[in-house]
Amino acid sequence: MTTLREVRVARRTGFCYGVREAIDASWLAAAEGKTTHTLGHLVHNEGVIEALRAGGVRRVEAIDEVAQGGTVVIRAHGVTPAVMETARARGLDVIDGTCSWVTTEQRELARLVDEGYTIVLLGTPGHPEVVGLLGFAPDAILVDEEEDWDRIPRRKRMALICQSTQPPWKFEKLAALMVSRCHELKIVNTVCPVTIRRQQDTTELAANVEMVVVVGGRKSANTKELTRLVGIVGRPVIQIESAAELDDPTAFAGREVIGVTGGTSTPIEDLEDVVRRIWELAGAPGDRERARELAATAIHAVAENAYRSSSLPADQRGAALAARVGSA
Ligand code: SF4
Repeated sequence: MTTLREVRVARRTGFCYGVREAIDASWLAAAEGKTTHTLGHLVHNEGVIEALRAGGVRRVEAIDEVAQGGTVVIRAHGVTPAVMETARARGLDVIDGTCSWVTTEQRELARLVDEGYTIVLLGTPGHPEVVGLLGFAPDAILVDEEEDWDRIPRRKRMALICQSTQPPWKFEKLAALMVSRCHELKIVNTVCPVTIRRQQDTTELAANVEMVVVVGGRKSANTKELTRLVGIVGRPVIQIESAAELDDPTAFAGREVIGVTGGTSTPIEDLEDVVRRIWELAGAPGDRERARELAATAIHAVAENAYRSSSLPADQRGAALAARVGSA
């Protein structure tokens, strides 16, 4: 028997401002007729990647793949100073989409290097933001999980800084450990406030529903953290990349109120698709038919002002995304 009464969306969802601005910069450049490239994927989301491709924005993995005179958009994660210099030296039209928060991290790191600290960077090895940050402090000691932390040496003057999407609890725990490892400890808290708010909203959502669906890239650190937090609240949780992964109605059996949340690189349209899919799978017959309308209502209940994956008018975005947003 169908029990579903409500599908509720977390208060703040959709792209963070850093991701949205980098994507908008790509649309604008393409709309101006520039041969536009992004250095790596702007976001780990297949729908957005496909929309950009359809809108004429190409992805390259290295600067030397961009032909002379081409435009290259640097993603929100930022790059090393060497990559930026290479792009400029080649005479490329560089659009720096590095998020302002990440730019601040980069500046802080460079300052710590100048001040002579032994720097510990908390971050995920290989993550593009971390790769970029290490370009500003090549000698920084990169640590991730707690098993790594024994590698941190004892030094007189040490500094701690982190990748923007690291969980605050982990940063605080590492700071506490480092207090015992040095005489002077400088702590630069670079956990992104958007990430913190996402986590707070997800915890609040989890406390008020019976189960939660978390939507985001499997490799996304901030998405995984949302899943972990739902578990801490004690609610069953399903983590998916898109609505297409939901095909089993029994996953929602007996639930009356289900929550949906997403990482900072998950477009709000994906959350709407997931809400709709839940209604289609687990709703009463009448609700299944109204799944699209119910999904739109759930999104608008929390995101009227931010109901967008772009700050641009539709005619300046790629055709695919515009069509998608227009049909929502
Ligand atoms: S999560 Fe924060 S730091 Fe990272 S791109 Fe988004 S706004 Fe910028």
